[in-house]
Amino acid sequence: MSFSDLGLAPELLRAIADQGYTEPTPVQAKAIPAILQGQDVMAAAQTGTGKTAGFTLPMLHRLLEFASTSVSPARHPVRALILTPTRELAAQVQDSVKTYGKYIALRSAVVYGGVHIDPQIAELRAGVEILVATPGRLLDHLGQKTVNLSQVQFLVLDEADRMLDMGFLPDIKRILSTLPAKRQSLLFSATYSDEIRGLAKQLLTDPVSVEVARRNSVIETVTHLVYKVESAAKRDLLTHLIKSRDMRQVLVFCNTKIGANRLAYKLDKDGVGAAAIHSDRTQGERMLALADFKEGKTKVLVATDIAARGLDIEQLPFVVNFDLPGSPEDYVHRVGRTGRAGMTGEAISLVSDAENDDLAAIEKLLKIKLPMQEPGQFERERVSAPRGGSRRPEGRPPRPERTEGRPPRPEGRPEAPHRDQPAGRHEHRSSYASSRAPAQSTDPLFSKPYIPSGEMTQSVKPAAPPSRGAKKQVAALFLPPVPAEKQDA
Ligand code: AMP
Repeated sequence: MSFSDLGLAPELLRAIADQGYTEPTPVQAKAIPAILQGQDVMAAAQTGTGKTAGFTLPMLHRLLEFASTSVSPARHPVRALILTPTRELAAQVQDSVKTYGKYIALRSAVVYGGVHIDPQIAELRAGVEILVATPGRLLDHLGQKTVNLSQVQFLVLDEADRMLDMGFLPDIKRILSTLPAKRQSLLFSATYSDEIRGLAKQLLTDPVSVEVARRNSVIETVTHLVYKVESAAKRDLLTHLIKSRDMRQVLVFCNTKIGANRLAYKLDKDGVGAAAIHSDRTQGERMLALADFKEGKTKVLVATDIAARGLDIEQLPFVVNFDLPGSPEDYVHRVGRTGRAGMTGEAISLVSDAENDDLAAIEKLLKIKLPMQEPGQFERERVSAPRGGSRRPEGRPPRPERTEGRPPRPEGRPEAPHRDQPAGRHEHRSSYASSRAPAQSTDPLFSKPYIPSGEMTQSVKPAAPPSRGAKKQVAALFLPPVPAEKQDA
């Protein structure tokens, strides 16, 4: 199937051709015709499946009749609203809107917290047809009457599951109450929980359900590998893997902001260029860290789940779980950063004994056994002779810390309280905090028995084959033994 078979306008086909896309991805092939027909859609698709183009292209097509080069703001009311959980995702979605809409005279803007509101107000005043927003900042604008949503006819909730995880449900409901009842609505979510279904029931009318093989789409192209390693040795092992395998672009996940900061700092000290990205960093810092990483100026980006949510990094070859996520669904999200758009990727998890339960929960969810690397010489040395000296063991039980479920502190000019934050703390469900005893997923995709496919059995393979002769290979991978007399140096 080609894009022209989908009935998209020539302006869109030209923009698609500019991107070099030859055929629609499965989610695009299913969602685009339904959206073009004006139907509501509920789609189970995560980042990496091409979902953004899946809703942006037909949305632009449906708004074509309103394209206008008039300078009058009155000719540019907000007609489409796209809500996303994070600032990065909002910025990326708007990039896609601009990319696919470059031959169409429709205006777009993005509004999110953590930056000054004034430039956003100016842009909104000038008039935009397509508005991409995070819920908190949008409510600020609604409160200040700097945006009018009374002509919205097209609504997208992107990564709806994460928005609920972040406690945005009350904000979303308030926003929905300001929209016209007659509109087309789309809901995209990587997972389906009862909460998501409840939201879909309120939001969607007779929706077409689009499900792409989300889990397989990750697993088909991603190889998984687990290293059993004591906590205190994780950083050395990571540094070693990055250096010995000449990894150039690695997205590393930590469960806490402090952990991410500390690891980035230490990796940098070890001579591996690294930066941290999490919600306590300013938007400018986050954007810069991401840009440096995408351009290859920084080899390692250490991220927490929320900050990395929805990140679209083209051809990202490696994802490392420095800490295993407490929620097995987050493993799927994290791993989904690599192996995108048909590229191959590798997901490496450094797992200490304390994380065995988390590993078991992930394997239960995926209904596969993740391939495990044999303990190598590296770990054996660490276990038998942990390095002395000034290095503070990282295996020490971490101090209780806020995790990333909570959205960022508003920065810049003081704004209305609690905007850009989820309503009520009780609403907040940090995936990590809530999941030390991982909840059973209600997503049928997860609870359905796993049917092994050719691709799956082929693809779930160790990144570096640890099978026969593995010990030799592993030993060769790791650092040479430190002579006994130097071990305490
Ligand atoms: P998304 O799931 O929207 O985050 O998209 C994942 C990646 O796939 C992005 O880098 C898109 O540019 C890319 N992409 C989207 N549609 C296609 C397509 N039809 N063919 C190839 N790549 C695509």
